[in-house]
Amino acid sequence: MTKDVIVIGGGIVGCAVVDRLAASRVSVCLLEGGDDVAVGATRANSGIVHAGYDCEPGTLKARFNVRGNAMLWSLVDKLGVPALKCGSLVAAPVGGEAGLAELKRRADLNGVRAEILTREQALEIEPNLAQGIASALYAPDAGVVSPYQLAIAFADRAAVNGVEVITEAPVTAMRKEDGVFVVTTPKGEYRAKTVVNCAGAGASAVNAMVGAETFDTEYRKGEYFVLDHTERVNVSTVIFPLPTAAGKGILVAPTADGNVIYGPTSRPADADDTAVDAEGLDEIRRSVPLTYARPAFNKCIRVYCGVRSAVGGDFIVRPSEKVDGLIITAGICSPGLTSAPAIAEYVEELVGQRTELLPKEDYISSPPRTPRLEELSEDELNALVKKDSRWGRIVCRCEKVTEAEIVAAVHSPVPARTVDAVKRRVRAGMGRCQGGFCSTRVMEIISEELGIPMREIRKGAGHSEIAVLAVKEADYDEI
Ligand SMILES: Cc1cc2nc3c(=O)[nH]c(=O)nc-3n(C[C@H](O)[C@H](O)[C@H](O)COP(=O)(O)OP(=O)(O)OC[C@H]3O[C@@H](n4cnc5c(N)ncnc54)[C@H](O)[C@@H]3O)c2cc1C
Repeated sequence: MTKDVIVIGGGIVGCAVVDRLAASRVSVCLLEGGDDVAVGATRANSGIVHAGYDCEPGTLKARFNVRGNAMLWSLVDKLGVPALKCGSLVAAPVGGEAGLAELKRRADLNGVRAEILTREQALEIEPNLAQGIASALYAPDAGVVSPYQLAIAFADRAAVNGVEVITEAPVTAMRKEDGVFVVTTPKGEYRAKTVVNCAGAGASAVNAMVGAETFDTEYRKGEYFVLDHTERVNVSTVIFPLPTAAGKGILVAPTADGNVIYGPTSRPADADDTAVDAEGLDEIRRSVPLTYARPAFNKCIRVYCGVRSAVGGDFIVRPSEKVDGLIITAGICSPGLTSAPAIAEYVEELVGQRTELLPKEDYISSPPRTPRLEELSEDELNALVKKDSRWGRIVCRCEKVTEAEIVAAVHSPVPARTVDAVKRRVRAGMGRCQGGFCSTRVMEIISEELGIPMREIRKGAGHSEIAVLAVKEADYDEI
């Protein structure tokens, strides 16, 4: 069957696009190459909801950042995604006044609320600014969001509203036959009148498959330290240094889930180079004390890395000039997470110029969601335990995740089939022990719920099976 729209790539942009299209009476399919949605840049970034003061006025980045920020805060409420509007400070030493004034000028042109504060005023917002900080730009509309949970929530709502979300379907070829795109994946061929390319780092490769524009893409890796929840009390807001040509600099920020991060670096890399190395971590160790007075590297529970894909200085979001019916998103580097709702809104407009988008009468805007244990009062929890004893069994002790939440993740609209997919949905394994206690139990739950043998349960993508050998009595075939 020919769909109205195929979206290629299930990062934050592709998921936001299918979520918007799901509200209309069009048939839509999302093809994602990875084992889950949100496995590219969307999985590993700072999670900052940027206010929009640093984008060059007049660019797509400025337009989508400011609009995306305004849209995002109500979306996270509606979708139940962890987020916190904690504001941000750009902290400058003596001599940084001109840099702050330039950001304030851009803020005014972009229509973003921001003010320059003295050190004393800034300390009222963030008492742990470093000694050398003399003034700061405060943006009250900035904050933090869980990037992968937002993308998953978009994809889940789209799936509930009829979008076919197909993972492990990397697009390997694309052609046009009689005006219809024929898109090839290992799972088969899919047809559509319109294709939206949201393939992130793979955008040029996808375009090339059908003879569309390709772009010189620059990849830069960003490494991070993640700190234990106990550090959260020391960080009230997002603390940036003054930006440089390499980017927004190394920040200190709370995460939406109650950790703290230090990072990212900005170093040239290959598109798939998510390795963290000593050089990157040392750079973070040197940079954090310049803005933040209480570095606590001894509280690190994990390091991670994500890769930005940049094409020139701005985002590319437009119809292809070479291939009719292809809509391109490319070079969606920072602030792409913040901008995604606005990019999707614009892509919807572009799709609407080709296909009539009539509202879906039975559209479900707030699909039922499984609560997190931490959101429940004692009475609410007791009531749930009475109905289903799995609410009474904690599987992840660090993050306090119950068996019921994990089972719900496995059966969610875009199901979690791997240990990492469960982790991104409910945080089992994200705590201090990093899954040391709960990973095998999570594997058992996936195995029981999906009827997959333990030896086939994977950590994440590709051949990442965890139980590769039986070391005791059990016959390998029995596990
Ligand atoms: C270190 C770092 C820090 C950042 N910090 C912030 C921040 O604080 N705030 C902010 O707003 N933005 C931030 N960003 C930017 C933000 O993360 C990105 O703009 C955003 O995640 C890009 O989303 P995307 O959907 O375009 O790409 P991705 O998330 O990379 O998704 C693209 C998807 O396409 C899939 N794909 C690729 N090729 C194919 C194919 N052939 N077939 C099928 N699927 C395919 C991939 O598997 C992937 O899942 C940061 C980025 C990085 C790397």
